Amino acid sequence: MTLELICLGTGHGTTHAFEGQPSSSFAVLLGGEPWLLVDCGTGVIRSAWAHLGRLPTTVFITHNHLDHTGELPYLAKALEARPRVLAHPDVIHLLQTVRLHDAPHDQQRMIGQIDWVVADDQQQIALEDGWRLDLHPAQHGYTCYGFVLSRGGQPLFSYSADSGYNAAHYAFLSQALFMIVDARANAGKYHASFEEVDDFAQAHPQHTLRVVHHGGAQHTFRAPNITLWQTGNRLTVVP
Ligand SMILES: [Zn+2]
Ligand SMILES: [Zn+2]
Repeated sequence: MTLELICLGTGHGTTHAFEGQPSSSFAVLLGGEPWLLVDCGTGVIRSAWAHLGRLPTTVFITHNHLDHTGELPYLAKALEARPRVLAHPDVIHLLQTVRLHDAPHDQQRMIGQIDWVVADDQQQIALEDGWRLDLHPAQHGYTCYGFVLSRGGQPLFSYSADSGYNAAHYAFLSQALFMIVDARANAGKYHASFEEVDDFAQAHPQHTLRVVHHGGAQHTFRAPNITLWQTGNRLTVVP
């Protein structure tokens, strides 16, 4: 079965508020059908409708920043079905106690609208048909997890989530030959720089990298195997 990724947004904290651009998110398509949404920040529901026609019912959440979870409270209504939300238990705790805390009665209603799937002690989330996410902590200013998605034990693609360049994190992610990574023009502790991910790509010529969270920046990388991902663009992982 084919596995494609489609970019739904490349924004960061201010991009939706100031410019109306969707926050960083992408979806996994199996056999051309939307299967998994990765993050649900501000602007993402409309982008998913525009590019996919419908939202996947399964959503992985990396962390509780607004540009990754801002539209989580509206997911059940947008889907007209029960969403299944996958995340690390520490992230789920923050989602339930902070993001969904509009008012006490509303909080319990919204928590109850979602099927929550928590990573186990091995940091794994096992799904149907041999699919599995292996989580790994990102280097970020808020509890945040990236992952490798595998099927039948074979790593297929990975996502850094919001993260500074961290050698252990990138080594974990590099199990998969396709990598979606967070980077921006200037290096910071909590977001990698274009230079850092360019160096990584040059050192890993067999990998294919796409950069999100750049907020519409322009950049030309030296390595041929890395580019800025653009909203609406697809990446074929399994043809
Ligand atoms: Zn972010
Ligand atoms: Zn963040």
